[in-house]
Amino acid sequence: MARSFDTRVIHQPTAAAGERPFGSVTPPIFQTSTFTFDSAEQGRARFAGEESGYIYSRLGNPTTRLLELAIADLEGAEDGLSFGSGMAAISAVLIALVKSGDHIVVSRGVYGCTFGLLEMLRDKFSVTFTLADLSDELSVETAMQPNTKVIYVETPVNPTMELVDLAACARVAHKAGATVVVDNTFATPVLQRPIELGADVVVHSATKYLGGHGDVILGLAVGTEELMAEIRGHTRKDIGGIAAPFDAWLVLRGMKTLSLRMDRHVETALDIASRLSHHPAVQEVYYPGLENYRQRDLYLRQMSGGGGVIGFIVKGGMSAGMGMMNRLELCERAVSLGETHTLIEHPASMTHTVIPPDIRYQMGIDDGLIRLSTGLEDVDDIWEDLNQALCAVEDV
Ligand SMILES: *Cc1c(COP(=O)(O)O)cnc(C)c1O
Repeated sequence: MARSFDTRVIHQPTAAAGERPFGSVTPPIFQTSTFTFDSAEQGRARFAGEESGYIYSRLGNPTTRLLELAIADLEGAEDGLSFGSGMAAISAVLIALVKSGDHIVVSRGVYGCTFGLLEMLRDKFSVTFTLADLSDELSVETAMQPNTKVIYVETPVNPTMELVDLAACARVAHKAGATVVVDNTFATPVLQRPIELGADVVVHSATKYLGGHGDVILGLAVGTEELMAEIRGHTRKDIGGIAAPFDAWLVLRGMKTLSLRMDRHVETALDIASRLSHHPAVQEVYYPGLENYRQRDLYLRQMSGGGGVIGFIVKGGMSAGMGMMNRLELCERAVSLGETHTLIEHPASMTHTVIPPDIRYQMGIDDGLIRLSTGLEDVDDIWEDLNQALCAVEDV
């Protein structure tokens, strides 16, 4: 019988680092830049790809390789790759998939730097993109152009928590010979497995839930063996955004508690989201796990929990949003998400300021929108802090 997901997060693949040197249960960190060849013939065979084995750590390293195999296993993909950051993973994947003149369909909310990358690809390399609502098959079809090569989606969308219909994207894309790339950072493979729904490539900012402890920046991508080999042998090798062995080791360690942590993040977020929706200072709450969530059917079809991130709008726009942020004592005013500490940020004045206001509003980002990443603290302590800050803003 195949082992369950909760067992596989702990019993990660080990072969890439040699079968457990000295019987170590936890793999060592291969902190080396280069690897010696036994002979000139062996060096030739490694470069020719006739013999497997390591050459130089920008091309591959046993510790980073362990992590690549672990994430491929959890996402149900043929192979994986690690990168120095989520953005290095996203840029390598997009550069590998498109060329000048191609078009990308993009979910209408994306991570701010991903939006910046798309603008750079457009302005310097003539790769165009369209932001679109991708909540059902018709909307995906409407966004497609004859030169569309990639559908790039985040779901839940950052920070409005809108969902994209992954199965519909896959059906439409594959009819047109396009590739579906999904940023699964918010959901993690615990709550959503895009490859099983038909997606081709999954990317992660492992900086968030996979690492889970706020101590590392790292990116991952998984997909077909063919595409991963192409990126390993060309895009990543030549652009060079690789992950460091120690950072990969930290993420491997973090991933062992991924299932446990996600269960707690989901439980706390659901509780906080429902309390927020009854608060008089709050205009609206976006959280996929809520029973009255707008896309409830889609949520039940593709996710098994709402995740740890909540979007909510404080009544009173920019000044109320910033006023509430200033009164917090436990929740950390910080960007990033998916770690032990509760982190809170104000997209209109922080992560999404690079996006022009009109596009921001089109993405559903209100000036009073707050993004809360629930941590692993006691839920009542988190609520007490949020409640006192909201009550203070309401009185003003
Ligand atoms: C943080 C984040 C990224 C970028 O990842 P880095 O590791 O910071 O480069 C991309 N997508 C999403 C959804 C993120 O939250």
